Parts: sequence; C-alpha cells; structure tokens
Amino acid sequence: MEVGAARPAARPTLSLAEAGATPILREYRAVKAAHPGALLLARLGDFFELFGEDAELAAPILGVILTGRAFGGAGRLPMCGVPAAAATQYIGRLLAAGHRVVLWDQIEDSGAGRGLVRREVTRVLSPGTVLDEAFLEPETAVRCVALWASNGRTGVAALDASSGDLQLGEVAGGLDSTTLAEDLERLQAAEVLLVEGERLDGTLPGTPRTALPVAWFDSARGAQRLREATGTATLAGFDADRLSIAHAAAAALLAYCERSRIALPAGFLRVRARAQASTMSLDAATRRNLELLGGLVGLLDRTRTPMGARLLRARLQEPLLEVAAIEARLATVAALHGAREIRAELRLALARVRDLERLVGRCVHGLASPRDVLAVAAACEALPRVAELVSELGVLAGEGRNQPSLAPPPGLAASLRRLLVDDPPATLRDGGAVRAGADAELDGLRGAGSDARSFIATLEERERARTGIRSLKVGYNRVFGYYIEIPNAHREMVPADYHRKQTLVGAERYITPVLKEQEAVVLGARERSVAREVELVAAGVAGVADHAAGLLAAAGGVAGLDVAQALAEVADEQGWCRPAIDASLTLEIEAGRHPLVEAALPAGAYVANDCALVGHAPTGPAVAPAAQLMIITGPNMAGKSTYLRQVALTVLLAQVGSFVPARSARIGVCDRIFTRVGAHDDLAAGLSTFMVEMTETAAILNTATSRSLVVLDEIGRGTSTYDGLSIAQAVVEYLHDAAHLGCRTLFATHYHELTALSESLARVRNARVEVVEEGDAVTFLHRIVEGGADRSYGIHVARLAGVPGAVVARARRLLAEHEQRRPIAADARGRVQLALPLASAAAHPVVEELERLDLDGLTPLQALNKLAEWHDRVAARPGGPEPG
Ligand code: ADP
Repeated sequence: MEVGAARPAARPTLSLAEAGATPILREYRAVKAAHPGALLLARLGDFFELFGEDAELAAPILGVILTGRAFGGAGRLPMCGVPAAAATQYIGRLLAAGHRVVLWDQIEDSGAGRGLVRREVTRVLSPGTVLDEAFLEPETAVRCVALWASNGRTGVAALDASSGDLQLGEVAGGLDSTTLAEDLERLQAAEVLLVEGERLDGTLPGTPRTALPVAWFDSARGAQRLREATGTATLAGFDADRLSIAHAAAAALLAYCERSRIALPAGFLRVRARAQASTMSLDAATRRNLELLGGLVGLLDRTRTPMGARLLRARLQEPLLEVAAIEARLATVAALHGAREIRAELRLALARVRDLERLVGRCVHGLASPRDVLAVAAACEALPRVAELVSELGVLAGEGRNQPSLAPPPGLAASLRRLLVDDPPATLRDGGAVRAGADAELDGLRGAGSDARSFIATLEERERARTGIRSLKVGYNRVFGYYIEIPNAHREMVPADYHRKQTLVGAERYITPVLKEQEAVVLGARERSVAREVELVAAGVAGVADHAAGLLAAAGGVAGLDVAQALAEVADEQGWCRPAIDASLTLEIEAGRHPLVEAALPAGAYVANDCALVGHAPTGPAVAPAAQLMIITGPNMAGKSTYLRQVALTVLLAQVGSFVPARSARIGVCDRIFTRVGAHDDLAAGLSTFMVEMTETAAILNTATSRSLVVLDEIGRGTSTYDGLSIAQAVVEYLHDAAHLGCRTLFATHYHELTALSESLARVRNARVEVVEEGDAVTFLHRIVEGGADRSYGIHVARLAGVPGAVVARARRLLAEHEQRRPIAADARGRVQLALPLASAAAHPVVEELERLDLDGLTPLQALNKLAEWHDRVAARPGGPEPG
C-alpha cells in the first residue's frame, strides 16, 4: 500500500467521518469506535499509520510530517506514519505525552491473500498500564489508579500491572479531598481512571485522566472479580472485604485492564488493603521540602535490585506509625549493619535476583524474551544463597505475620536451563535460543537443515571439480536464495543443467534443480525449527507464569531485604545510629546532622546539633513544663532551615525504619510531620506566595495533633512586617495553647520580637544560631545554642558587604529608635503584646491624604464618597505598606 502521497493543496481537509468509505477506512472507523479517546495506529505494510484527527494530534508529538490522502473522497484525509521497525520509540513518545495507544496490527503477510489483509488489535497501551521493558524505568513503579467517590468517601484502587500489585483503600472526602491528593502523590499515579464527567483538579496536573462509563464502577461486581482474580472465597484475608467503595473503583480498573488486553491471572494479581491507620500521610509541601524522591533517595539508594529500589521509594513515602512495626524493620537493618561480611555477600546474591518481580510479570503477560526466562532461572538459583545468609543473620525476610518463603519453585531453574542455551539471542526471530537435546522434534528439524546446509557448503568444491572452473563460487542473497556464480570468461564451460538467474557486470549467476531442492530443505527446516522454538520458549514462559505466586512472594522478600541492606550500608558508611522508638511525645536528638547538606560539604565540616522537645497532651501528667516549641532566630545563611529540615528528616527516617544521622536519637512516634520551609526567596511573586504560605499554615493548624511534629520557617515573611509579626505570634500562641495541639514545634524566624514569648508561654524556648565576628570577618558557626539572636546582626552584615559607613551609622541610630518605640509588653493576662509604632500608620497613603484634606471645601456627599474610596483602598491592601 502506498503511503504519504503528496499534498494536494486545493483539496479540503476531511475528518475521519467525512472521508470516503474504502474498506480499510470502514474497518479503521469501527476499531476507533471500540477504543474511544485512544490514538489508533494501523499497520499498513512497513508502517504504522494514523488518520484524521489522530494524525493531526500525533504528528507534532512524533516529529513526523503530516501528509494526506484522497481515499476516493472529494477532499484529503490527514495522515502520518512511523516505520513499524522503530515503532517502540514512537509509541514511547505518545505515552509520555499522556496518550493511550491502540496497535491494530497485520496478523498475516500482506502478500498472502487477495482482498484486505487481516488485522487485529494486538496491544492497547496507556501511560498507567504499560508493561514493556522499553517504557518502564527500573526504579519507578507505574500505577493506574481508579477513583470512585460515593457518600462522602472516595475509593482508591491502584494497580501496578507489571508486577500484579493491587492496592485498595478508602479516604474521607470527595475527589477534592486533601487526603486523596496526598494518596495520589504517594502512589505516583501514572494514569487516573474517573467516571465520565467527573473531574480531578489540582492533584498531579500532568497525569492523564481516562474517563470510563459509570456502569463499570459496580461494587458488587468488583468484589466478585477480586475474589475470582485472587482465587479466594472472601477478601477478608487481605483486609479488603469491607472496602465496598474501593471495590467499585477496582471493578472499573479491572474492566479497563481487560479492555486493554492485560491478563491478570490468579496468583499474579495480589490484593492488599492500604493500611491507612498504620502509615503516615505526607503532604506535598513536606515531600518537597525534605526532597524525599530527590536528594534523599539518591543518598539512600544502595539497593542491588530494581524491586528494592522501588520498595525503598514506596517506603520513604509512607513512614510507619506503629512502634512494633518500626522496630521490626530496624532490627533487620541493625543485624545487617553489624555484619559487614554477610552484608557484602548478600549484596552479591541479591544482584543476581535482578528484577524478578517484573520478569515474572513479563512471563505472565507473554512478553518475556528468552533472556528474561533465563534471568528467572538465574534468580531462582540465587534465592537459596539469599535464604542461607538470612538464616545465618537470624533476621526475617518479610514484615509482620506473613513471612514470604524465599525458596524457588523446585526444579524450575533446572528445567529452564535445560531448555535454553547459556547466552540466548534477544529475540526468537532467528532461532538459536533452545539448547540442542532439549527437544527431539527441534533436533530433527535442525538436523535436516544442517544436512542440507553442509551439502550446499561442499557444493562449491564439487562443482569446481565437475566444471573445471576454478573461480566458480556458491553464494546467497535474500532475493534469489542460493546461486552459483561464474565469471564471464568461463561462460562457455557452464553445464547444461545450470539455469541463468541474474546477470552482473563481469559474471552470471545460475541455479540448479539440486541446489534449489536443498535450499528448500534448509529454509523449510529453518522456518519450522524457529516455529518450534517459539512453541518451546512459550511453554517455558508459561511454566514460569504457573509459579507466579511463589516467585512473586520470594521477590517481595528479596525486595525487603534489599532495602534493609541498603539502609544498613548507608548507616555504616555515614556513621548513623539506631534510633530508640517509643510511643511517648519525646523527641531527643543528640549530635544530629542533615545528611544532604553534610554530603555537599567537605568531610568534617558539618556542625552537628542537638534537639530536645516534648509534646504537650492536655491529659498528660503534670510535670515541670518541658520545651515544646523552640523559636530559632539568627541571620540569613546561619543554618536555620537546615536545622529544621534535619530534625524533620531524622524523624521521617526513623519511622521509615532506617538508622538516623545522629549520635543518638529517641523518638516518640509522630503521627504527622508538617513542614513549611523555604519559598521565601520568592518574595517577588507577592501576594500569591503569601497565600500559599497561609494555606499551608492553615492546613497545619487544622490537622496537626499533639503527636505531630511541626516545622515552620519564616512564617509571615511574605507580608508586611507588622502583619507578618502578628501572624507569627498568633501561630506560636495557638500551637502552644490549643487543646488539640501542643505539638513538638520548631519555629525559625527573623522576628527577634518573638523571643519575648518565652517569658509568657511556659513551653516556649529560644535558640539562636551562633555567629562570631572578629574584626571584619564573620563566621557562621552553625551551632544552635540557647537564647535569642543579636538583633543588630543585619547591620553588621550591611557593613561587611561594603554599605557606606554613613548609612550603617544611620541604620544603627534608627534601630535604637525603633526598639524604644515598640517594646514588647505583657498585657493583663501575661500575654505579650506588640506595640506598633504610630510611624507605621502615618506612613499609609490614606492617612497622608487625610492629613492634607481640606475639610471646609467638601460637600457632605463628597466627604461620603471620599470615605468610601478610602475604605475600598484600605480593604484592598490588607497588609498595608512596608514601613520605611
Ligand atoms: P538559613 O535558613 O539560616 O538562611 P540555611 O539553613 O539555608 O540558612 O544554611 C545556609 C548554608 O549554611 C547551608 O547551605 C550550608 O552550606 C551551611 N550550613 C547550614 N547548617 C550547617 C551546619 N550545621 N554545618 C555546616 N554548615 C551548615
């Protein structure tokens, strides 16, 4: 079929619906209708082609030229195409752009019949359900997440189709709930399935949404399909029996997979309920502030398998809340930490298990190559060594009561080894993957072929002898097959049974009946032996798929061990300690460090700092008030936010089950970690930045409990000084006083005025970052010490920066004046009050205007209008001006 005919400029562009009704277009339209919203790629000869609107959409993404064809109609139907041989790369681009792709492939040779070549939909690919190795990152799980909101709750079903992992959960609220947003961030959803007409705004804006009919979200059917898929009579074993809203989401998800031709047989699909109560949610700001999936994972990822790498990322996103569960993880890390040699051996053994999870997945999906199958065998052979080392250490491979067996399916590796050669080719196209002796039929086919091949190989010598032509050659090409070539000089000596086939410049090529007969044997045997190999390898793949459940359980155990050894490795190298975990409200860190800042500095340059806070529960025992909220002051660049982040990171690492960067740590489990750090470099963005800051602050004040850790940096910085100072003070008071709060809090601020709060609020303490100045040199010691910071520090910096002496001197005088004018005084209730100097009010343009106003020259109506105008202006500027 010809493609990409030249563009006839005059003809109108037609839509797919308007274009003619050639047989292929009729079929194309039918397939398109069966897969709404997807890009349909039709195989025409050596190309995959897109038509109409699909072509217009895809051409720029694919980077190919949009052409058009008449198709018998009066206009031109847009089309574009990509070579089938390079299709993978192009499909990857469409998926990355968030599109779903349907491959409508030829399932017979184009030459085979008259009429239309038979085509079928062979693959449906979408960003959330891709299975091919080419489209997957080893360390990133790809999840398709279906959502169903009902009765004030939202059911979440999240499937990793490459590994069969299906998580079910329900969160409070509808599609706009914060908890749902946090859950989708945690899951790193690659595609979201929604009911037609529903919207999911805000969360994961770049993630494609796919709309599905409401009838697909059927709870009873979902539960039924989950029971079938897991091969169980009840879902109670997965703690998933009561999640009826999530069952509806799962129903749609499984139906979607079915339409996408993704097989999820029992044993492969593993259902688990998201343990909402036993893991911590992390908001987007905290995730970002702590660089969980950036710098932190980069530091921690010493895993040796992609499964371990993925599990590490998942665990960083859901710290634990139960002491026993955290201790269980820590015990494994500790055992590995204390056994360097065993750990080194384990690392070697783990590497040989490779990505067993996805290897098994590819076998289940029928996408495994001979190399994948052999990799499964190698993994099975490595598992006993892993098990041996684990029992030597006396640790557990898995979490909780379900201990996975690390034992490989008996005999599987040996049978795969018997089947495949040691170094099989990447594909089965040319055969050569199956070992000689593995199959009698294949051996027979290969034998027949090789007899014929050796006949041909010796033909040259024999024909030279028979004809007496020394320069006679036997060769092969794709068009003519085997031939005998004779230079023109010897044309006279060519025997009568040679048939001329091709004329070259200085020679002729001939064939003989005997040669063609043997050639047919060679080619026929080859074709049949490749077909037989395909059958045999498919049986091997199916053998692996049959053992999916056992292999995946072992893979899960290996992933857990891999994460533990990675954390032990980091802890050993970086000198981290095992934290003591309990259910108290205590937080005690001795000589803590920020692992990422530390790594960026020369060895030994990082200054370690302590932290001691105790949360306040209203019902707690009446003891001498301990530090609950620490106000940290200090100049810019002194290390305040580094300290804040380091404390939050330490708690997070501990609850993930990792050792922590400190000499010692005692951590009463936190139910949430809230951080509001940074963004203050972004002052130019103005009010909107401040709005974001306040929204995040509001979320913290509304959701934190006395078990939470709250880390706030420069609250109120995004608005005018007095505005910001007032907000900051009110926030501190609330965190201290509110009955549901009293949470462990670090509060960094440049408002020195706030340090006075420690006098009136029993559990507030002051700390500052120490700075020494000798002559013109200032050194940031980065050491956190008790007490408030020197408030004239900014002026020192100005001097050091070369601001003229007169300006510095004037600034000193002004500072002294300001301090006199706005003392912080305590009110009758012992509350600190900030006396705002009148100067700030006088600076307001409305006030200035009022002073200048000629009252006698105004009518009552003018006065009223003036009043209304000022009112509007003042209301529009809640922050008022920055005082000079
Ligand atoms: P602030 O929040 O007070 O403006 P930062 O926390 O951003 O300051 O720290 C500024 C820089 O100081 C960091 O980038 C780092 O290089 C250095 N620093 C911070 N804390 C320490 C520390 N404890 N030891 C050594 N250097 C530190």
